[in-house]
Amino acid sequence: MTLNMISPKLQDAINAQINAEYWSAYLYLSMAMHFEAEGQSGVANWFRIQFKEEQAHAEIFINYLNSRGGRVMLQAIDAVPTEWASALDAFEATLAHEEKVTALINGIYAIADAEHDYATKGRLDWFVAEQVEEEETARGMIDRLKLIGDNGLALYTLNQELATRVYNVPAPLAGK
Ligand code: MG
Repeated sequence: MTLNMISPKLQDAINAQINAEYWSAYLYLSMAMHFEAEGQSGVANWFRIQFKEEQAHAEIFINYLNSRGGRVMLQAIDAVPTEWASALDAFEATLAHEEKVTALINGIYAIADAEHDYATKGRLDWFVAEQVEEEETARGMIDRLKLIGDNGLALYTLNQELATRVYNVPAPLAGK
């Protein structure tokens, strides 16, 4: 093992994270398909963009593991739910899931910290900030959907707004 090569423990943790990011992608694609079928095309679009972002997160970890001489090993992606009672229900599930992802990222950070792997900590810093944003966004959507309640016109307007969301390549992937 050369000096700059990633440790087997961190390699395992990052491989598990790659799987978690793909599971997230699959979860959000499932939500997009559910809301497409429900006629809420704006909410569906929002989750489709989220699906792309999660794939990008996995790719960032893939590129990083490769850059450190590690070996990416893809694992099976577990099944995801397919039905949600409402958009509020889906965004509450999103927040709960993103809180779990935050804990996973923090867990990898703790390993990198114990190993004095400063490069991995540096790479993870972007994800730490990203998770703050993911949770804040989900909480904001929950607040808005609680205000909307069963007001059809307000839900229609929200769908129109969410239909305008576009995908932006995350900074660590831009130019790759
Ligand atoms: Mg993610």
